[in-house]
Amino acid sequence: MGVTARTIQLARDLRASIDALLNSLTRRLTAGWVDAWDRLTRRFSGALRSLLDSVGGRWPSRRDIARSAPLAAALNAAEAEHDLLVGELRAQGTAAARAAASAASTSQAGIIRSQLPTGAPKPVTRAAETEIEAIARRAADRIAALSDPLTPGMRQALQRELVRGINRGADPEQIAAGIVRRLEAQFHTGLERSLLIANTEVMDAYREAALVFRLANGNVLRGWMWVARCDAHTCPACWAMHGSEHPVDEAGPYDHPNGRCISVPLTRTWRELGFDMPEPRGEVPNAEAAFRSLSRDAQLSVMGPSRLAAYERGTAWADLATRRENPGWRPSYVPTPVHQLT
Ligand SMILES: [Zn+2]
Repeated sequence: MGVTARTIQLARDLRASIDALLNSLTRRLTAGWVDAWDRLTRRFSGALRSLLDSVGGRWPSRRDIARSAPLAAALNAAEAEHDLLVGELRAQGTAAARAAASAASTSQAGIIRSQLPTGAPKPVTRAAETEIEAIARRAADRIAALSDPLTPGMRQALQRELVRGINRGADPEQIAAGIVRRLEAQFHTGLERSLLIANTEVMDAYREAALVFRLANGNVLRGWMWVARCDAHTCPACWAMHGSEHPVDEAGPYDHPNGRCISVPLTRTWRELGFDMPEPRGEVPNAEAAFRSLSRDAQLSVMGPSRLAAYERGTAWADLATRRENPGWRPSYVPTPVHQLT
């Protein structure tokens, strides 16, 4: 059997607690970025207005831009703010990764018990503190390495925008405002990148802790099941992987960056565990049936028109996901490109 209604409920609770963790991390990082840009807007607007006044009407040359002291000061301020934000990403991302690892390890025992008869030996309840710490440390290292290029990249992007300049409108106020909007867009790419790093690393910390837990309970487990959210916002790859079974020692679920799929441990049969009693039939999630029961709009939002058409012409459900090897990172399951679907 395996999965019971109680198992599904516990998996939902676990997902909700991880979602809450990630949503609060996202809110805090976003607020930091927005506040920082509020402060920087004034500096850049002032610096650009005084530069435009000094050159009179035309867009300043690369040389004018390089020699403007207020602009250099604004760029330095942007760099300093960005460094602080990257520091926040590292500190808060690591704390969230530690919390996710901890939540994974405390939730797994209940999920296992929900599949076993009363009287079964209790699973090892949680991973050791040292293991959680090791997972948090690895997350910290990965977040640090991935966020290292962010600030230099941001500074270069701002400089590129400044040199590119703007070609229309005579009013210096408007010209300055237009440039500041473009600078803002560049500055905020750092936020998008940070959220991607934080979300992905926090989920991977959860997954690592779940793996450690499975290995400690290998005697009662037969594997784990890939569980996706399965709604209109879930991608075709995660839909296709939902419900798939994997060996105990296989790490995962390896979904794409920003993915939030979770693993649910599956126990061996009662007979295999030495219980001579009838075992209730488990609930096996059928992702394909669930997908077919979605509204047409939701199906289109998941797959897009061409992929949905390919699926309806007979593409096998499992072929919607493709494993991709990523140099320098773990493998990931991504939606199979439409042109590869038969
Ligand atoms: Zn996905």
